[in-house]
Amino acid sequence: MLISFYGVRGSIPSPGPSTMKYGGNTSCVHIQLDDHRDLILDAGTGLRLLGKQLLKRQSSINIVLSHGHWDHIQGYPFFEPIYQPEREINVFTSVTTGEQLLFSLFDQLDGKNFPVKAEDLPSHSNCIFKGAESVLYERNIHIQKKALNHPGGGSAYKINEDGMTVAYVTDNELDPPYAMHTTYHEWVNYLHKVDVLIHDAQYTEDDMPHKHGWGHSLISQVRQLAVDAEVGALVMFHHDPDRTDGELDEVQIENAKHLKSHRTPTKSLVAYEGMQIRLSKNVLGGNTVVEVL
Ligand SMILES: [Zn+2]
Ligand SMILES: [Zn+2]
Repeated sequence: MLISFYGVRGSIPSPGPSTMKYGGNTSCVHIQLDDHRDLILDAGTGLRLLGKQLLKRQSSINIVLSHGHWDHIQGYPFFEPIYQPEREINVFTSVTTGEQLLFSLFDQLDGKNFPVKAEDLPSHSNCIFKGAESVLYERNIHIQKKALNHPGGGSAYKINEDGMTVAYVTDNELDPPYAMHTTYHEWVNYLHKVDVLIHDAQYTEDDMPHKHGWGHSLISQVRQLAVDAEVGALVMFHHDPDRTDGELDEVQIENAKHLKSHRTPTKSLVAYEGMQIRLSKNVLGGNTVVEVL
């Protein structure tokens, strides 16, 4: 399994001299399964570049959306495979308000907010609101969802390929002031010993209490979650648009200190555009090997 990051930023694209190292595109992660099928997590502005790389392939494309906020859908009109005749594109969501969510993805293609209308696209788009897990299962993609704590709702996903696991948890507030869908304890159980945890880590203590309830987690909370859930590697994701490269370098240093002080084998990474993580099976021990390429 190869995980590639095309957009790691939250809320709004943030290009500029202070974000060149980690990147300014919004959420989009590509997973290439070992049989070369593709799974795309979210359709933020990072999707544009990924689309160019998928043009030469003939295979169907599977996009799974966490939720319908702008920073997770805005890449879709610029995703070139949607203009390829006969290209099969499946868009999945498992959230209870899925129908509404997919409308937000396709409504932007209405001829006014964007010059092309969804119904005029030459590709074949299938929208799957309900039962995404079972439809994907039939296609041999094993995925397990969990409800996010986020205004408007959404879903986290855990993907399992031959015992190798990656969890994608954005946008998620671990300690919200509103009624939560998933408690901290439930997150620890759901994420227990996953090989790679990609988690929203948008805020610092300085952002609080002003942004408490906005649907994102503190970096410090996510570090602790990784320790409590004994994950193989933590990837901090959905960086605040104001977080500079220098500040994210500091986060990486603090992560390493924290995990070392807990004497945990968990690796910590701060997501950047272009980062690739390969998961493979150790032929001797059967455990998963996680490598940053
Ligand atoms: Zn977001
Ligand atoms: Zn959101």
